[in-house]
Amino acid sequence: MNHYDLLVIGAGSGGVRASRIAAGLGARVAVAEERALGGTCVNLGCVPKKLFVYGSQFSEQFAHAAGYGWQLEGASFDWAQLRDNKTREIERLNGVYDRLLTDAGVELLRGHARILGPQEVEVGDKRYRADKILIAVGGWPFVPDFPGREHVISSNEVFYLDELPRAMVIVGGGYIACEFASIFNGLGVQTHLLYRRDLFLRGFDKDVRELMAQQMAAKGVHLHFNTDVERVERQADAELAVHTDTGETLRVGQVMYATGRKPLLDNLGLENTRVELNKQGAIEVDDDFRTAEPSIYAIGDAVGRKELTPVALAEGMVLARRLYGADQFREGELAVNYQNIPTAVFTQPNIATVGLSEEEAGKEGWDVNVYKAQFTPLPLTLTDSDEKVMVKLIVDKASDRVLGCHMVGQDAGEIIQGLAVAMTAGATKADFDRTIGIHPTVAEEFVTLR
Ligand code: NDP
Repeated sequence: MNHYDLLVIGAGSGGVRASRIAAGLGARVAVAEERALGGTCVNLGCVPKKLFVYGSQFSEQFAHAAGYGWQLEGASFDWAQLRDNKTREIERLNGVYDRLLTDAGVELLRGHARILGPQEVEVGDKRYRADKILIAVGGWPFVPDFPGREHVISSNEVFYLDELPRAMVIVGGGYIACEFASIFNGLGVQTHLLYRRDLFLRGFDKDVRELMAQQMAAKGVHLHFNTDVERVERQADAELAVHTDTGETLRVGQVMYATGRKPLLDNLGLENTRVELNKQGAIEVDDDFRTAEPSIYAIGDAVGRKELTPVALAEGMVLARRLYGADQFREGELAVNYQNIPTAVFTQPNIATVGLSEEEAGKEGWDVNVYKAQFTPLPLTLTDSDEKVMVKLIVDKASDRVLGCHMVGQDAGEIIQGLAVAMTAGATKADFDRTIGIHPTVAEEFVTLR
């Protein structure tokens, strides 16, 4: 029976990173994967989603081009071409991941992995022993129970639709629901977003959420807040009838649920271990990513501290360093910084944010100054778009430290990433003020807020 120092279950963002770093530090490593290499991010998440985002933006860009003198009559869109080009690119990335693992000396075990004991794993019909096991299995879309659930899809299927529907219902008010509402609206699909409470993107700054709702609606997304699905029925014409709890019936070609994700722990063999789950159904770990079973560790969406690829990457890297090279790194390189994690929602326009929202700052008892500007960005001045950019800073009155940066606008993610560095370094509002702007840009507004 093969014996490894580390057997990683799951070759997604966190698992691949942990495997490569551990192998680079001299550990004998194997990684087990039953699906395509790269996990959710590469195959059914960040990467293909962002390609769809780019694809969907052209309709608006073509319209804006007219203001700059371009005539683009006769533009048409071919869903199959976008979908298949995207799939080819993802397959190329699968190959890149394969080579990355092989070059790092990591052994790839193909098949479903099941833990048989604290140091034993079965992959397919073969058994392996390992001093340590790392669970990096990621998550899977969660769809609640309701009559007609069998007719709806999740973000797993949306990347491979045979054809673009005429109309679509998207249920949920988080990242995935909002991003896909923008994507399908941009591709010309009549898009209905149904969210159970009064304003989507719960947890983001309220000004951001309100502006986003207004802009999405202005771009044509039909927002149905305080609305839930009662049942979904297949019609004789093959369309779906979505009956809502507000008495409305929407007839659409597809219904996509984006109502959160759950760790993918089915048939993982956790009953053969002392691994414990928390109330959310995620694996409970201590500060060293160790489960209640001392030889078993877990990272990424299986733990669910923050379901973001860069967090899983950071966790995988830190864990491997701590296990196999602790004496070779500085203290800061051996810890994940969960403070000020920047994040973006790739809606149209984008949202990006780092640090506290105004509401969170209030709840946490900070006495803050709020700086905010809303304006038409220069590229849209020659167009008939009424899209607005918003930039907002939350600043602690006592220390002048910037506690939160928020933006709605094109390329918000690109801009907020830099501000997250400033916040990690402890920047004050005075630091922002004495920074010279780059003119004319949207980003300079962050250093001219008064
Ligand atoms: P989210 O947790 O972001 O949002 C889930 C949404 O579904 C919430 O609006 C929630 O409502 C709603 N919901 C939950 N349960 C039900 C239910 N039973 N009936 C109706 N509505 C329900 O999950 P997503 O699926 O959008 O994304 C999963 C995670 O993946 C995200 O949290 C994010 O961490 C990550 N992600 C990151 C992206 C990025 O970085 N750009 C892109 C996509 C995903 P309520 O507000 O009431 O709880």
